[in-house]
Amino acid sequence: MKAAEPDEALLLALLNTTPTVGGEVDDRLADPAAARAWIVEHAGDQHADEDLTLLRSTRDTLQALVHGQAAPAALAPALDGVGYRPVIGDTGIEWRLSTPREHTLAARAAVAWDTLRRTAPGRVRPCENADECTLFLIDHSKSNSARWCSMAGCGNRMKARRHYERRKNTRTSG
Ligand SMILES: [Zn+2]
Repeated sequence: MKAAEPDEALLLALLNTTPTVGGEVDDRLADPAAARAWIVEHAGDQHADEDLTLLRSTRDTLQALVHGQAAPAALAPALDGVGYRPVIGDTGIEWRLSTPREHTLAARAAVAWDTLRRTAPGRVRPCENADECTLFLIDHSKSNSARWCSMAGCGNRMKARRHYERRKNTRTSG
């Protein structure tokens, strides 16, 4: 795979704004102040005008798309007024994404999702520890075999659980 697109990190961070903490889904964008802090952390402080309602609904749509539970048409509000504009440099023309300032981040995340869909299909996935975890991953491994949001977190928990279940099964069957 080629180098990660710059907005992949933004897309993944946005998908992962609903982690499960202590058995409950915690929406990091639900509270406006927390949402603004999230934006500054992940995109810098030039996005103060970002429409939080649209950002949340775009997040929900992108999560549903990854789960195969939505159609791309649901992304339309995030793409309203979005286009590419030519920037002429010393060597030629470069096309830059041009977005209304109120939904730059929603548009960039939607475009990043679509770029991945075309260039790396199936690489954006929910974590396999679905009983406990609501996070997503973008798999950049050669073998396309990543299964967990993180090896240190869900990877180890799932391995420990399998080990425990295997031992339990050996004991009851033997
Ligand atoms: Zn996980």
